[in-house]
Amino acid sequence: MSAVMVEVGGIGHVGHIGERGDISDTAPMRGGDEPNATVLRAVRALADGALAELADDIDRRAIYPKAILLRLGELGAFGLHLGLNGRTPDYAAAIRAIAEASRVCGATGFMMWCHDVCGVYMEQSGNPALTGDALAHHAAALTLGATGMSNPMKTFAGIETLLLKARPVAGGFVVNGALPWVSNLGPDHYFGAVAVVEAEAGTPAEAAPREVMFLVHCNGQGVELRHCPTFSAMEGTNTFAVRMTDHFVSADRLIADPVRPFIGRIRAAFILLQCGMGLGVAQGAIDTMWAVERQLGHVNQFLEDRPDELQAELDALAERIDALARTPYANDTEFLIDVLDARAHASELSLRAAQSALLHQGARGYLMSSAVQRRVRESHFVAIVTPAIKHLRKEIARLSAEVTPA
Ligand SMILES: Cc1cc2nc3c(=O)[nH]c(=O)nc-3n(C[C@H](O)[C@H](O)[C@H](O)COP(=O)(O)OP(=O)(O)OC[C@H]3O[C@@H](n4cnc5c(N)ncnc54)[C@H](O)[C@@H]3O)c2cc1C
Repeated sequence: MSAVMVEVGGIGHVGHIGERGDISDTAPMRGGDEPNATVLRAVRALADGALAELADDIDRRAIYPKAILLRLGELGAFGLHLGLNGRTPDYAAAIRAIAEASRVCGATGFMMWCHDVCGVYMEQSGNPALTGDALAHHAAALTLGATGMSNPMKTFAGIETLLLKARPVAGGFVVNGALPWVSNLGPDHYFGAVAVVEAEAGTPAEAAPREVMFLVHCNGQGVELRHCPTFSAMEGTNTFAVRMTDHFVSADRLIADPVRPFIGRIRAAFILLQCGMGLGVAQGAIDTMWAVERQLGHVNQFLEDRPDELQAELDALAERIDALARTPYANDTEFLIDVLDARAHASELSLRAAQSALLHQGARGYLMSSAVQRRVRESHFVAIVTPAIKHLRKEIARLSAEVTPA
């Protein structure tokens, strides 16, 4: 019997269904300049090899894939979007790298985003102590970073209030408070956070609050990591609650002051990079539908969201995200609405694709050990991690009202 040729990858993954219905690569990675395409091929090989073997342990047995993250750093996966050594930042390639990992393991794709976006905070801070060697080490994963920005992002969207408080002192700030969830942490890791500065005596009550953004080192004095309850997936993401008690933040850790203009500038980059998680989880789900096509296609043809339909939608979305990723620091309102909408579409598509993969695979996909089962839970995470679908829709509604006033 001849092999059936099918496109199985809008993120550059072209494969075919062989005699046993399995999928194998036949074509090189699409897009990117040649050095970046080489990085992406290496990321794919790592994902299909060592990462695929670990994915179940990462999901359920809380194995933190530190060696994988370090290897991704060696391969150059964390420097793609940073303009280091005179290289042109390539956000589309960085998103595809996250998608390549997420296709195999959503948790690892998420941690890549955590580290990548922390690199954005450092680079865009303009603080000499956070750029230069510190950023080069970060890009190579010689040091590992994360992000505690869900609470500020929700605060700036009017959903929450800031959980960290800062008091100005000589040479910096003293910070108190707790963040409920920060992933990709370890004793020698660091993450970006925001605190509201206590108003000085005499400040008018109606004055806008001052906020500062800074890097917290997990081994800093007054920083305590507390274990979180068990999650339904992503157990190996080293996600902790972080309590800060009189934690001193020196000026060389400052990322932004004031914070809101800085967030306005990096917001699209922050959200665009996250799209890699949704694209990858959706691609992994589609791949598993093709895997049972030879055996179950005769009955699966009666399902909705068939793999060819989902693939066409995913390919179109990946191209749209590629185009948006050419100007990650644009911040006009219509561009931002487009970015928020693309991110929401990536979440919705990964939910639909994961659900449809389960219906296509049937009982084998319902086994706890099945990647199909895991991917359903990963797609839920893509949909609830900040900005969650509900948060994205709230922001789209607010920004749309700005451009089309009633
Ligand atoms: C596995 C995992 C990893 C995460 N990693 C990060 C990270 O690296 N960085 C980061 O900044 N954020 C992280 N988050 C938080 C995430 O981005 C979202 O903010 C969170 O999932 C809730 O978002 P939501 O918009 O759905 O809010 P909702 O769940 O609707 O929350 C609304 C309010 O309820 C509170 N709330 C919700 N659940 C509980 C609970 N069990 N106990 C007490 N209060 C609760 C919230 O704090 C919030 O004030 C992580 C969350 C999870 C589950």
